[in-house]
Formats: sequence, structure tokens, C-alpha cells
Amino acid sequence: MGNNINGDLIHKVLIPNPKPQEVYKMPDKTIVCKDCNKEFVFTEGEQEFYKEKGFQNEPLRCPECRKARKQERRSNSRDFRH
Ligand SMILES: [Zn+2]
Repeated sequence: MGNNINGDLIHKVLIPNPKPQEVYKMPDKTIVCKDCNKEFVFTEGEQEFYKEKGFQNEPLRCPECRKARKQERRSNSRDFRH
């Protein structure tokens, strides 16, 4: 009898109740930006967008840094042409 109670306790400790709703509803990932070390969310929608585009890698930078890099590249190429 005593053993049964103990086994039940151990079982509960080993398998804590997960929150399935959260797990399935929010598969968003939190990623730390490579440039500014800020955390940003890689949302489910963005993950699907990446998959559609065939990108295999997750973004390394937050949207702000990505935008900044894009603008930098654009101005650089403009300078190059000039
Ligand atoms: Zn950043």
C-alpha cells in the first residue's frame, strides 16, 4: 500500500502536467538577435513564411536589425553605382 502511494508521487514528479494548449497554440520561438542581443519572437506565421520561401535557417537577427542591414546594403549599392 505504502509503495503504491510512493509510486504515484514519483510518477507525478517525473511527468508534470504540461499545458498542451500553450504548446500547440503558440509555437512561436524566441530568438536572441545576433547583432543587438535583444530577444525577438519568430512567430508561427513567420516560420511558415520562411518555410514557403524555402529558407532552412531561422532568422539570426531581429526585424529591426534586418531592416537596418537591408537599408545599409541598398545605400551601399547605390554608392557603388555612383
Ligand atoms: Zn537586433
